[in-house]
Amino acid sequence: MINSRRVVTRLITNMFKFIDIGANLTDPMYEGCYHGSKKHEGDLDEVLKRAFNQGLEKIMVTGGNLEESQKGLELAKTHERLFTTAGCHPTRCGEFEDSGDPEKYIKDLTTLILSNKDKIVAVGECGLDYDRLHFCPKDIQLKYFEKQFAIAEEVKLPMFLHSRNCSDDFLDIIKRNKHRITGGVVHSFTGSKEEAAALIEEGLYIGINGCSLKTQENIDAMCSIPLERMMIETDAPWCEIRPTHAGAKFIKTTFPTKKKEKWEKGFCVKSRNEPANIIQVLEVIATARSEDINTVAETVYRNTMEMFFKES
Ligand SMILES: [Zn+2]
Repeated sequence: MINSRRVVTRLITNMFKFIDIGANLTDPMYEGCYHGSKKHEGDLDEVLKRAFNQGLEKIMVTGGNLEESQKGLELAKTHERLFTTAGCHPTRCGEFEDSGDPEKYIKDLTTLILSNKDKIVAVGECGLDYDRLHFCPKDIQLKYFEKQFAIAEEVKLPMFLHSRNCSDDFLDIIKRNKHRITGGVVHSFTGSKEEAAALIEEGLYIGINGCSLKTQENIDAMCSIPLERMMIETDAPWCEIRPTHAGAKFIKTTFPTKKKEKWEKGFCVKSRNEPANIIQVLEVIATARSEDINTVAETVYRNTMEMFFKES
């Protein structure tokens, strides 16, 4: 009797509720395509099944441009736990001008959001990425990052933000525009303690994924962020926690995997991240911070609900 009660308690305490705030589920890898070559049948259903079994209550699909936001919306409509963001990633801001009518591009994003507020929960991803200026020059990134605040202001949704190697310019734009938005999270954070503190000072939240846990310096920066300002994500299919990463030693949960060339139903694909792996992000955060894993899970869940799902 005592034994069975113990088992039940353990099962209950091990079931966490998650919200993955960043999953690129419209990526061709979930159709079995890698760098343009088909390796296996599409398995998004399997990926979602593993996610829901792992306690994913909600997944926010990332919209990286207008077309991807439309695709994300179509996907989100297929399941009650799926949602999406809509916006334009810094490396793709050339599309505003290439479209021939930047104002129309902005209007199309705004209309898409306003017509689908049950499924679109954030404006983004948008921001600045100076590591990849070869995809889009700085002046275009700056111009169209700032313009997306007008969308957030009009639709009254928080922002899903991307900041890479550009902290001063990013902060300046945030400072100028923060009064226009209802909130925001800087996802896939890889900056320093000081950068985290400056973003938090402006009222923003910080999204942690595998890329945020690569080095001891990354982990120290993560540990400096108050839990009350943290959200978690996978950024799948990117940013998995690799065995060589500093955070890897804290992982407890692993899934059976096969190489993409040897894909088999019921297995994860090696080196392709997926939302079920969010448990590993939680495990690394809780262990590195020496905090109770349930408290960490509950706090980041609550933070995310309050910003993106207040009315649901
Ligand atoms: Zn990003």
